[in-house]
Amino acid sequence: MISDALVARLCDRVAASTSDTFSTVNVFTGGTLAKVPRSSPEDVAEAVEAARKAQQVWAGVAVADRIPVFERFHALLLKHTEEILDILQAETGKSRKDGFLEVSAPLVTVGHYARKAPKLLAPQRRQGMLPGLVKTRELRVPKGVVGTITPWNYPFALAFMDIIPALIAGNGVVLKPDTQTALCTLFGVDLLYQAGLPQGLLQVVIGDGPVVGTALVDTADYIGFTGSTRTGREIAARAGRRLVGYSLELGGKNPLLVLADANVHQAAVGAVQTCFSNSGQLCMSPERLFVHTAVYDDFVQRFLNEVKRMNLAAAYDYSADMGSLTSQRQLETVIKHVEDARAKGATVLTGGKARPELGPFFYEPTVLTDVTPEMLCYDNETFGPVVSIYRVADDTEAVERANATSYGLNASVFSKSIAHGEHVAAQLKAGTVHINDGHVVGLGSADAPMGGMKDSGVGRRNGAEGLLKYTESQNISVQRVPLTTPPRWLPFGWYVKSMQGLLRLIRRSNIR
Ligand code: NDP
Repeated sequence: MISDALVARLCDRVAASTSDTFSTVNVFTGGTLAKVPRSSPEDVAEAVEAARKAQQVWAGVAVADRIPVFERFHALLLKHTEEILDILQAETGKSRKDGFLEVSAPLVTVGHYARKAPKLLAPQRRQGMLPGLVKTRELRVPKGVVGTITPWNYPFALAFMDIIPALIAGNGVVLKPDTQTALCTLFGVDLLYQAGLPQGLLQVVIGDGPVVGTALVDTADYIGFTGSTRTGREIAARAGRRLVGYSLELGGKNPLLVLADANVHQAAVGAVQTCFSNSGQLCMSPERLFVHTAVYDDFVQRFLNEVKRMNLAAAYDYSADMGSLTSQRQLETVIKHVEDARAKGATVLTGGKARPELGPFFYEPTVLTDVTPEMLCYDNETFGPVVSIYRVADDTEAVERANATSYGLNASVFSKSIAHGEHVAAQLKAGTVHINDGHVVGLGSADAPMGGMKDSGVGRRNGAEGLLKYTESQNISVQRVPLTTPPRWLPFGWYVKSMQGLLRLIRRSNIR
């Protein structure tokens, strides 16, 4: 399905000077999928320099003239969706349904910034120090070379949702995808070049995070990182020492609240869809369900019915509801969390076992109750298909328990009353709150920024912030008549008095 010729063509895009390679795994079978080049720290330095050279030309291209590249990329993404899905599924083990949503996300990003970027990046007139006498404009200058580091769970969406605004803002980019999922990302990079991206502007390096990722953090002018909170802290400390900016999209332990007035069927169906997306390996997936006692029994019954109906399969078509976990490491974490909970007294309502007959890393969607604080899955991110349900007496208890975590990425609230849902949402400490949905509509509303509060991140993707973070603002102020140096004949004391009078007048007239 993935030919050697295609792999060779894609790997040609990697900045790697030696013949060292990594083997990647076909997640559905456990066999070798491909060999991808291994970059060295020296390759990273060369990639940054090459991107910098191309960026200096790109920054001189008007924003409106950059956009057509991304419009063509949009068309190519639509044309090649099925090929991308084949690679994405083999590299991650996700169901094709989950893959389709993933490949669609960058389409929304392109559509949004193609419309909004020219205005957002245009010089803005600002009020000068003194009306009429000082002219001030705010310019948006690209950072230079952006280092983008992405994980394996949504490798295609997360790479292109970040790369596209960085490039549109006039930057070069050096991308370090996770090694296991490099091929699908390289496929997208290849499409960007087919769409007319200037050669050299987007570089790809592949290698271990602590080696190649660190080299990138040490050389790029800005870092956009998506991954674990642990790595995010290391990157922030390193970038901080160089005084370069960064944005961090990190982990979560997301709550889903079913309020007393929820449409219970809608909540059960919505919860299944969001909890088990990509087998729960989605930073926004809920792992803690807080259900009002008035609807608890009804919800649990309906939720379990929906979960038990899910079709697990290693299928390259749209028949599976859930695919595989992506690695042995993820499988081990899931087993550890479930067995720990079981040993400490949790009840497994459904699931709770691996399914090796379907593929080496398959695990059943698992629902737990009676989970207590001493269990690993209580407040650690499992990042797998495991959820815990808690009964709550009222909204106050639901909000308190939902917020009792160091994370603050995403939350969901189910209620038939939008006003009630919004009232509860406003009390939740999370960067995104979905009402009557799990994670899709906020992510798809690209006009609004999204990201994490607390340990879930710094900075935002999407919205104006998701574009402007890749720029420096520059204040250009023109003094139209001499103001700041008094004429020689004027004693300085008189100058002070006249300036104070002017400031008083301006204040009184409410100009500033
Ligand atoms: P990691 O933090 O281990 O890795 C993410 C990326 O960082 C990989 O490319 C990795 O490379 C690289 N990396 C690792 N160590 C370093 C380092 N010291 N310096 C620079 N780069 C490094 O995360 P996971 O792969 O485990 O991804 C899962 C995590 O990502 C979960 O916690 C999840 O919640 C979070 N996530 C957050 C999202 C969000 O938008 N908020 C979205 C998706 C996931 P290598 O693979 O070689 O180690």
